[in-house]
This record gives sequence, structure tokens and C-alpha cells, in this order.
Amino acid sequence: MNEIASTRRGLPLHTKILIGLVVGAVSGLIANVVAARSPAVADAVGFAASNIAEPIGKVFLRLVIMVVVPLVFSALALGVLELGDVRRLGRVGLRTLGFTLILSFSSVAIGIGLVNLFKPGAALPPEKRADLNARYADVATGAEKKAAQSKSVRDTLLDLLPENPLQEMVGAVDGTSKGNGMLAVMVFSLIVGVALTVTPDRTQALVQVLQGIFDVTMTIIGFAMRLAPYAVACLLFAVTAQLGFDILLTLLRFVGTVLLGLGLQMFVVYPLLLVFAARIRPVEFFRKVSEAIFTAFGTSSSNATLPTSLRVARDELKLKPEVSQFVLTVGATANQNGTALFEGVVVLFLAQVFGVALSVGQQVTVVLMAVLAGVGTAGVPGGSIPLIVIVLKTVQVPAEGIAIIIGVDRLLDMCRTTLNVTGDLVLAACVSRVEDREPGAPIPDSVQG
Ligand code: ASP
Repeated sequence: MNEIASTRRGLPLHTKILIGLVVGAVSGLIANVVAARSPAVADAVGFAASNIAEPIGKVFLRLVIMVVVPLVFSALALGVLELGDVRRLGRVGLRTLGFTLILSFSSVAIGIGLVNLFKPGAALPPEKRADLNARYADVATGAEKKAAQSKSVRDTLLDLLPENPLQEMVGAVDGTSKGNGMLAVMVFSLIVGVALTVTPDRTQALVQVLQGIFDVTMTIIGFAMRLAPYAVACLLFAVTAQLGFDILLTLLRFVGTVLLGLGLQMFVVYPLLLVFAARIRPVEFFRKVSEAIFTAFGTSSSNATLPTSLRVARDELKLKPEVSQFVLTVGATANQNGTALFEGVVVLFLAQVFGVALSVGQQVTVVLMAVLAGVGTAGVPGGSIPLIVIVLKTVQVPAEGIAIIIGVDRLLDMCRTTLNVTGDLVLAACVSRVEDREPGAPIPDSVQG
């Protein structure tokens, strides 16, 4: 799988995006200050924001949105197929699945808890929020409509099973779904993945088609990412020209919330599991896996870090290779705790920024989508971006809001990938330890390295 965010020559893409952020933010701030003094300048800035900056930003967003449904469908079905080894692998697989769910839910719960506690997006002054919503009026009206018809938790859960998956696919993008939109599509994809696992002999052709769809969608997202530096500059100009310094302070609070959440999972939840489930001293564990941690931080890619993780698991942690190979390979895609936490926080943060009140049912939807997105996100730099766009659309928060966070994404990507990879190693340590306690238990041939 290629990196979403690779460029062939010149500056690395993430540096270009950062430059885009700075150029957009600084020019927007200057425009904001000057426009406050001169109505003529204010008109010109408003015109440029609506007719030049925003359309360019929208091209980027549309390129991403157009492939999100096939991307999610193929990624999740293939992901389950990989996890399908779970069935073949019996106990090891089930334990992996169990620990993955515990780790993913705890990280999403931490993220959502913090964002509800600190409300980083709510700090925006009400008049600025009104301005922002006026700019994205069409989406805001949709949000109100959706909030008015918000469903009970029971119906939200029932609607996880789509009656008509195609209708949900269409509705996931244009907001007309009858059920849960993207979440229902995700559940449908999981079911297709399970069915593929059970009929391996006759479905090889379909698996290849799904792999092809996945590769093509990733390539198109790669095209979109090449536009990202310009789109970020434009979208950020539009937002800062209107909102001034307030939005940047809000952004800082967001970064702080994400980092605190990642820190809690890394230095509180993981050590607890290490002590009680894996029986390893946390300090020793972190020292032994430091090479994988630094690789993850430097590459922002779980996939690229996999060889290093496999090595430290074998040479440093001395885990059983037959267990750690399986757990780490599956975990690189399926157990992305940092990504799940980040996706949950981003969506609730942007809902706060735009003043969209999410019902309990919608918050449950965000939690489930964040956990599933942790499974469906490719382990490459910026892998979460398409999934965030679609979760935003599901809960009717303007997808343009992604511009507010994408400029700082690389830094947060480095940190969340570090958590993703450390989480995989914690998972491997826990599963190995539990296996060790049952000596003589057979390991299926399919995982023997
Ligand atoms: N970069 C992350 C990873 O490879 C995925 C993401 O959250 O964007 O683990």
C-alpha cells in the first residue's frame, strides 16, 4: 500500500501542508485586521473567501468524499477477511479481538470524555460561531433538521443493520439516509467480510476486486492530498479572515486535548494492562520497544513500522514469534487506538466549533464509528482524513471544518501513530502472556512463522 501523503520530489507533503496552514492563517489574520478598519476591504475579503478560496478548498474535499464509500466498504471487508484468521486461529485470534476491542473502546472513551470535559471547540465566542454557521448555512440547516429528528439509542442501534445498503451508501454522502448512513455501511461491510471469510474458496475473484477498489481509492486520495497544501491555505484563509485569532486559540486547545488523551492511553491504560495482563514492568517495556516508538513517530505509518515492531517483539520482548507475528500484522491495520481516539475527538471538537449539539444517539454513533474507523483506517500517513470527513458528514458537521485541523495533522499523526504501534506491541505482549499461561496449547499451523 502506498503512502497517501507521498510526493515525488521537493519538500515533503506534510511540510507543504504546514506552509499552506501558515500562509492561509497569516494572510487570513491580516485580512481580518485590515477588514475591521475598512468596509471596502471587508467586502473584497468576503468576495475572495467565497469565490476563490472556498471553491478551491471544496475541490480537495470533493476528491476525498467521492471515494470514501468504496474505500470504507473495501477496507473494512478486507480488514475482516484478514481478521478472519481469527476464526482459523481460534483462541489466539479471539484473544486478539478481545484485547483490540478493550484497547479501542478505552481510547475512544478517553478522547470523548476529555473533549466533553474541556470543550475545546466551545471556547469560540458565540458571535464568531454565528458567522461560521452563516457561511456554511446549508449544512447548518441540515444539522438542525437532523437534531430535530434525533433518534433514541434503541433506534440508533437497530439502524446499524441497513435494510437497503445501497440507499445507505447514497445517504451517507448526501445526508438523506433513512438509517445510520455510513455506520450502517460499515456494518454491512463487516458482514460482507465475515461472509467472505466463511466462503474462501469461491470468493477469490471478489476479494481481488475489493483489493483493486481499495488500491484505486487510495490512489485518488493521494491525488487529493497533492492538492491539500493549496486547499488548506484557501480554507484556512476563509476561516481566519472571518474569525481572526479566536480560531487559532481554539485550535491550540484542540491539540492539547488530543495530546492529553493520547498520553493518558499511553501512560495510564497501557501500563495497567502491561502490569496486570502481560506481567511486564512498564518502564522495561517502553525501554525495549523504544526503537519501534521512534520509528512510528518519525514515519507516521503503522505499516512502515511493522518490520521494526516484529523485530523488537522477537529480539527485545522475546515474545513467541508465532503469536506476535499474527497479532502485530493484524494490529497494524485493525488496532489503531490513537487513530480511533483522534477521530472521535476531531468530530466532537468540530461539532462544538460549529455549535452542532449532538444527541446521545449521535454520540454513540461517533463512538462506534471511531472504533470501526480504527479498523478501517489504512496504516499510512494521513490515513484517518477520509474517514473523518465521512464521520463529519454523518453527524451533519460541515466537512469544510477539516481545514481547521488538517494543518496540524502531521504533528498529531506522528503522535497517534506512536500510540497505534505501541498499542499493537502491548496487545502482542498481553496475548503472548495469556498464551504462555496455557503451556502446550496448540498454535495452528497457519500462524507458525
Ligand atoms: N498514520 C496513522 C497510522 O499509520 C493512520 C492515521 O491515523 O492517519 O497508524
